[in-house]
Amino acid sequence: MPELPEVETIRRTLAPHVLGQTIKKVRVNWPGAFVLPPKLTPARALREREIVALGRRGKYLLLELDDGATVVVHFRMTGALVYYPRARAGDAHTHVVVNLTNGQLHYTDQRKFGRLQYVPAGELATLACLTKLGPEPTGEDFCLEYFARKLDGKKTAIKAALLDQTIVCGLGNIYADEALFRAGILPFRPAGTLRLSEVFLLYDAVRLTLTQGIAAGGTTFRDYRDGDGHSGSFQNQLRVYGRGAQPCLTCGLPLHKVRVGGRASVYCPGCQH
Ligand SMILES: [Zn+2]
Repeated sequence: MPELPEVETIRRTLAPHVLGQTIKKVRVNWPGAFVLPPKLTPARALREREIVALGRRGKYLLLELDDGATVVVHFRMTGALVYYPRARAGDAHTHVVVNLTNGQLHYTDQRKFGRLQYVPAGELATLACLTKLGPEPTGEDFCLEYFARKLDGKKTAIKAALLDQTIVCGLGNIYADEALFRAGILPFRPAGTLRLSEVFLLYDAVRLTLTQGIAAGGTTFRDYRDGDGHSGSFQNQLRVYGRGAQPCLTCGLPLHKVRVGGRASVYCPGCQH
């Protein structure tokens, strides 16, 4: 499931291919993948529009068009957006094909939870899924004081607080587990029980883990591919995620796997407190 480092990698790898290109044709193989206002068709909305910018907020990719409209990509579980320099046939999971002046963009999604959402000019600022997002974890708005204030008195598990996109956006299961391990904090501890020194360790761990994830081109655990169709490599640096029952790389104790707030969580009973 693409988290912030994966979506940021998709953004960076797609940008050189699609910026300045004009959309020539749109083929939607599965209508559920493309969400747009009634009375509008994907072809009418997108044809002859130029892609002028590629942005990102949290786990959302934003394709900005020259008429002020935006296509918001929700990757969810298995969504992927890949650029091909030459036209090619898709497969059963290719739901949208966008022909550009040069090359094609393929939106594929095996589990079909993802969406391309067309947002007309002027409506992005009021889009509910974006307005409720907390600050970007690697940006300046996400400061230690803010993080400490958000966790203060909170009874929910710290892992659940990290996944809460209204507190800080972009973290999913992989990077939340890795950040908690790095900070030495148990995932199921109530967020309000963290001492300020622990909040500081976690704040640092969140930013460092995401930055390293981006530098590694994201994590390919199962399906994730970047905009060139390549895998990431952060899976080679994972300390806990996906390693339940395996020995901790730091202390050798077997890692535990529990459910926290409905999500599988892996932690080290020796290194995390
Ligand atoms: Zn350990």
